[in-house]
Amino acid sequence: MRLCYSHLMDEKLFRKVEHALEEPGRLESMRSAFRSVLDKQTRNAGRIPDLEERRERLREVRASCAGDAALLERAVAGLEANRFRVLRAADAAGAVRLVLEEMGDEKLLVKSKTNLAREIGLSGALAEAGIEVVDTDIGDRVLQLAGEQAVHPTGPCAHLSRYDIAAILREKLGIEVEADPSAIIEAVVADLVPHIASTRVGLTGVNAICAAEGAVLMVHNEGNLDLVSQRPGKLIMLAGIEKVYPCIEDAVSMAKLETYYATGQPVTSFMRVIGGPSKTADIEKELYYGVHGPRELTLILVDNGRSALMADEGFREALFCIGCGACLLECPVYDVVGPVYGSPGHLGGPGVCATPIPGSGRRMEAAVEAGLPLCTTCALCRERCPVRIDTPALVEELREMAVSAELLPFGEQATLVSSVRNYSNPWGQPRRGREKWAAGLRVPEAGESTTVFFAGCSYAYLVPEEARSAVRLLTAAGEAPLLLGADEACCGGPLARIGERDAFRETALRNIESLRAVGAARVVAACPGCLKALREYASISDLDLEVLHITQVLDGALAEGRLAFRAPEALTVTYHDPCHLGRGQGILDEPRRLLEAVDGLTLLEMEHSGLYSTCCGAGGGVRTAFPGLAARIAEKRVHAARETGADLLVTCCPWCEQNLGEAADGAGGPEVVGLLSLLARCL
Ligand code: SF4
Ligand code: SF4
Repeated sequence: MRLCYSHLMDEKLFRKVEHALEEPGRLESMRSAFRSVLDKQTRNAGRIPDLEERRERLREVRASCAGDAALLERAVAGLEANRFRVLRAADAAGAVRLVLEEMGDEKLLVKSKTNLAREIGLSGALAEAGIEVVDTDIGDRVLQLAGEQAVHPTGPCAHLSRYDIAAILREKLGIEVEADPSAIIEAVVADLVPHIASTRVGLTGVNAICAAEGAVLMVHNEGNLDLVSQRPGKLIMLAGIEKVYPCIEDAVSMAKLETYYATGQPVTSFMRVIGGPSKTADIEKELYYGVHGPRELTLILVDNGRSALMADEGFREALFCIGCGACLLECPVYDVVGPVYGSPGHLGGPGVCATPIPGSGRRMEAAVEAGLPLCTTCALCRERCPVRIDTPALVEELREMAVSAELLPFGEQATLVSSVRNYSNPWGQPRRGREKWAAGLRVPEAGESTTVFFAGCSYAYLVPEEARSAVRLLTAAGEAPLLLGADEACCGGPLARIGERDAFRETALRNIESLRAVGAARVVAACPGCLKALREYASISDLDLEVLHITQVLDGALAEGRLAFRAPEALTVTYHDPCHLGRGQGILDEPRRLLEAVDGLTLLEMEHSGLYSTCCGAGGGVRTAFPGLAARIAEKRVHAARETGADLLVTCCPWCEQNLGEAADGAGGPEVVGLLSLLARCL
């Protein structure tokens, strides 16, 4: 029985998503800004020739440093030796309290970029205490004036056009300004200068703490950090406890990648290392503090749940994040709903994963509210992330915890779970009708083969032609398989993706029993979700099974000359990589080789394909819980397919086929077809 407040949370998140769907044009500027970052990344990739090695090295460094308490203590000792005042805050309230104490009687604080300040709600809390906070980063200042939420860690107002910004400045500052970037920047800077000049205290975030040197490193492009950090009285710095690096060289390497992934530039405009307060020994060789810059440096180390994440091996990875925001640029969900997905300071799927403390009910609620059920588990963010944070794996683990806390499943997902439990399929279809798809097919009897074709619920009930084509193709390749018939149950994949691990285990054990009973040594799946789930059976059973995707088997047969294809008429097709097949299982080339082998068929690639293919929107329980969101994501993929001019959009996943098919019907094509029925027609 789910807790009733979880229903309220469901409704709240559902409403937020629906609201975002009602205004499709609202995020157009953000999308175009994100495209421009991706273009710059592509253009400048050649300027970092060892990019992949750098990513590997950065991941190693983050893996060894995040949560290394001894390293953090070494860093603190070094910082204190360099006259930093190091304070520690256990939570957001503690961090705010420390900033307030550090402010003393000062009533104006100028601030440079810090996502941690967003996380702890600093500006609002200081305003309540009568302290005016002025953001000095152009984007942050615009958001501050508009009272809006950031959409990207380094491009916070990317969702606002120049016209929006000019209107905000006119309304909030009472000044006339043209909708022209130069005029806007000039106006914002003119407004900021007197604020900066009239305060003695600045506050900023920190990109890295360098343990060996006892220093901190920050990167910025605008130059405002230099002004903020040069206030004569004090510089307050906020840093999460995970920001520690062994030495300055490692920190600079991180900063190089952070810059590239955040902006597409190979180098930042400014990099500031602070290793102590402003000082001089020019008078009688005695040290005096506070010359051109701050006399005092205070670094506030904020925990706010990080220790708990670090202590959990499964979640520590969430803190490898360097805050570049590259994970947001192509996330199919973020693209549609924007910062509805995430929480302040923690945007998108990786942000949701960095939000909660495992085992803490209240923070788990925050994760669900931040959009835990929204992730399609497509893994595109993992490919784009410089540190390769495995967000879908973290999401699934978190969902499992949320299920235990009775905060999930979300909405209609509950019906899917009970359907699998009651009928062994997610579609509420009767068990006894499961084998109907195979009526009339000639397949071996048990004992005549050790290869089983696992049809899966969606192919068995919803797209039977695809399952029949699979058997025809395997038979033509000399690989006629056994079928489990009515003894096949749901693979459990849809359950695993939404965190229903117990229900997954129940259905998996039923299939393991059936596979054992027919003496299966090899199982061939056509549905990528089934393939992934069947491969996961190894973690709950000692059944020794080779699990293959049908395209791997057919591709092998093709290479050995056991298969040949000819199209009945000339065809141009484009291929949509199902996320769980392509990125998920690395099966990218086999479907393409099969299509390219068809005489008379031309394969055209979409703008995003292969490893960087975008999602259809159906995965991870999203189509079940948020059909409107799934449909909107599918529309974009169909649009990309149409752009190629192909006659057909081919895919190899029943969920993709269904979701894209509906979107294509609504958009007037192209026709969506299953790879297997297309190949079977070409036999
Ligand atoms: S796995 Fe896909 S949907 Fe989930 S956060 Fe990453 S890019 Fe977004
Ligand atoms: S999860 Fe990866 S891509 Fe996203 S902000 Fe963090 S480091 Fe960047």
